[in-house]
This record gives sequence, structure tokens and C-alpha cells, in this order.
Amino acid sequence: MATQLEIARAGEISEEVRFVADAENVDAELIRDEIAAGRLVIPANKLHIETNLRLAGIGRVLTTKVNANIGTSSVRSSVEAELEKMKSALDAGADAVMDLSTGGNLDEVREQLLARCPVPFGTVPIYQMIVDRNVEDIDGEVILEVIEKQAKQGVDFFTIHAGVLREHLPLLENRVAGIVSRGGALLAKWMLYHNKQNPLYEMFDDLCDILAEYDVCFSLGDGLRPGAIADATDEAQIAELRTLGELTARAQEKGCQVMVEGPGHIPFDQIQYNMQIQQEICNGAPFYVLGPLVTDIAAGYDHITSAIGGTAAAFYGASFLCYVTPKEHLGLPDADDVRAGVIASKIAAHAADIARGLEGAADRDKKLSEARTNLDWQTHLAESLDPQTAETMHRKACKEIGVAELPSADYCSMCGKAWCSVRINREIREAIKKQDAAKK
Ligand code: SF4
Repeated sequence: MATQLEIARAGEISEEVRFVADAENVDAELIRDEIAAGRLVIPANKLHIETNLRLAGIGRVLTTKVNANIGTSSVRSSVEAELEKMKSALDAGADAVMDLSTGGNLDEVREQLLARCPVPFGTVPIYQMIVDRNVEDIDGEVILEVIEKQAKQGVDFFTIHAGVLREHLPLLENRVAGIVSRGGALLAKWMLYHNKQNPLYEMFDDLCDILAEYDVCFSLGDGLRPGAIADATDEAQIAELRTLGELTARAQEKGCQVMVEGPGHIPFDQIQYNMQIQQEICNGAPFYVLGPLVTDIAAGYDHITSAIGGTAAAFYGASFLCYVTPKEHLGLPDADDVRAGVIASKIAAHAADIARGLEGAADRDKKLSEARTNLDWQTHLAESLDPQTAETMHRKACKEIGVAELPSADYCSMCGKAWCSVRINREIREAIKKQDAAKK
């Protein structure tokens, strides 16, 4: 069976393309064209399609998508807690979920999550390669075994850090934060220990064969992404990006769909350049960015720093935003952190979609604004990105002003009745209407 890329290149419109086209109200032929050019992916493992996957496309002609990372750690691992986090992510509107588990029974966690995951599901297979062994003991057999096992489970996209090369490591000497990617750090350790090239790079063609068989989409990892503002857009980051460009072309040549991962910590004024250079080097392959975080000093609020960077990234070239939770750099997120992170990223993605003029992107904004102007609280709250939080806040405010029934409030506690400009506006409109009627 062919991959989505091969089908598109053959000029055919697959069922999956049709589904995405209908879901986003975009011409199916345009989507086919974008997939064939390597600028759009539908991460959909053939086995996940057969169970519960609701297909989603990632590319510049579609809305910007948001991913939520969940997963156990060696300190805390429970399948139930991860299922709760995934539910929280999906309820908040995550378009994809990645399981980054490193603790407990990884196969079981993945299996349970996948069985209940209706959106594209990603993993970082190298994490499983070091279970019960030291990183130095990873060999070709282990790599292929883990990749194949996860592909057979139905994973839709894999982060593969094949672009970190031995020759890149000396470029890290002057970095403030060194290597912050877990996959990147593990592979650097392996390369230094064995004094050999990155095995994922050396075995890349074999990996392509497995990914193509199941149509697992590559998410080419940025193992050398900057983890500090001071390290942004440095030589190491760009050197790896050039390798990712080469690997993108090689994987596409073998029929694989490819996304490319990007930074990281980037000052706001460097985001545009970072998006442009990725699009240029990787020939328009969908860019999947972590944040980017526009400052290092907002611990506890990094969902906000990443949303600021995420809007700019999605405006200038990214197609897929990986959320960041308020716990980033501080601890393993819980379900509430996941929710806060997804909502922040959804705001960033949506703001960018409006700004880049995607057809219909601002329709919901208009609907909400009309409801707000008409003091139609039910529609106002329902159309919000996070209706649950909006309603909780508004009900509390209604209590403060002694209004029991939510729809009957014709002002709120923000300005008070006499100062409510929305209410005053309504009175002005009615007065103008009466005047106009009297003139006729
Ligand atoms: S009181 Fe102020 S914030 Fe509340 S509805 Fe009226 S104008 Fe809006």
C-alpha cells in the first residue's frame, strides 16, 4: 500500500485527503498538490486509521495545528494520570498528542493512550531504546526493533533526531545551555562514547523503509535546538537544520511524509528569519515548533512566552505548534497544566490564522463579537476558546451583582450597570432607530 505522499504524487485524491478537505473546507486538489510537493502532511498510520483516528492535515494552506505533549517520567508514572492528561488535552482542543513517556511500562502506556486517541499520535522512539540499557548500548538491532514495534502499534508520527551529527558537537562549545533536547543529548553521548556518527543518520534509509510501510510521518527532531535566548540561531542550530533539509529530501524520495521540528528559545525579532530559513532549507516541509519561547525568565508562565512566540512563528511559516505548559522547566505537568498549555497554544494558532487571512478564520470572532454586543451571554461563552473557564468566571461575576440567571445579565461586574458601554451602546442604537422611524 502506498503512502499519502506516493498517492498524491500519482495524482490521486485519497479518502484521507477528501476527509481533510471537507473538515477544513479547502479544495481537495489543493491539498493533494501540497502533499505531493512535501508541504503538507496527514500523519496517519495505516493501522490507526483502521481504529479510531480522526484525520488531520498539517500545512500552510490549512489552519495551524496544536500538539500537546504528555507522558510519564521516571519520577512519576501512572497510566491513569496520562489518560487524564490526554482527556484534558483533547477537551481543550489539542489537534495532536505526543506520548513522551520515560517511566513505567512504556508499551502499556502507549497502547492504552493510542486505544483512546482520536487525533494523530506521536512518540520519540529513542526514549524506549534506553529502557533497561545504557545509551552507549544502543545498536542497530535495538533501533529497528523499537521503531518497528511502535509503528505496528499505530503511532502516526515519530520524532527522529537523525540530524545531530558528530561534526556538530564542537559547535556547542560556547553555548549557555548546551543540548536541551533529551534525544539530542542521548545521541551526543552515544557519538562521543563510540566516536562514531549518529546511528539514526547512518540507518536513515532503513528507518524510511519502516516508516513508509505504515505511513508513519517523520518529525525530524531538532536535537540541537537552542534552550536559551543567548543560544538562538547559532551555528550548531543552523548546521543541524541543513542536515534536516538533506534528510527531508531523502525521506520524501523514499515516499515518506515529513515534518521538521524547530526551536526552542528564540527572541521575538529572530522568529521571522528562523521560519524563513527553515522553509528555504527544507523546501517548504511543514515546520513544527516548540514554542518558541521569547524570553527565558518567565518560569511558571512559559505557556504565555511560548504563545507569544507561537503566534509569530505560525504567522511567518510554522504549521504546527507544540504547546508549552506553565510547568515547563519546573516539573512534570498535571492535567490542569496540560489544559492551560493547550488553550494558550490554541490562542496563538488562532491569532496567527486570522492574521494570515485564512478564509473563515475570523468567522467565530465575529459571531462572538456580535453576541457580546447583544449581551447574548450564552453564545458569547459557547464561542470562546475555553467556554468552561469563561462560564465559571462569568457565573461568579453574576453572583457579585446579584443576577441569578446568566442570560438576563445586561452588564457585568467589570464596569457596573451605569458604566456598561455595551448596554449604553444598545440604548444608543435603539434611540437612533426611534429617531429614524420618527423621520419617515
Ligand atoms: S460591564 Fe463592562 S465588561 Fe461588562 S459587559 Fe458591560 S461593557 Fe462589557
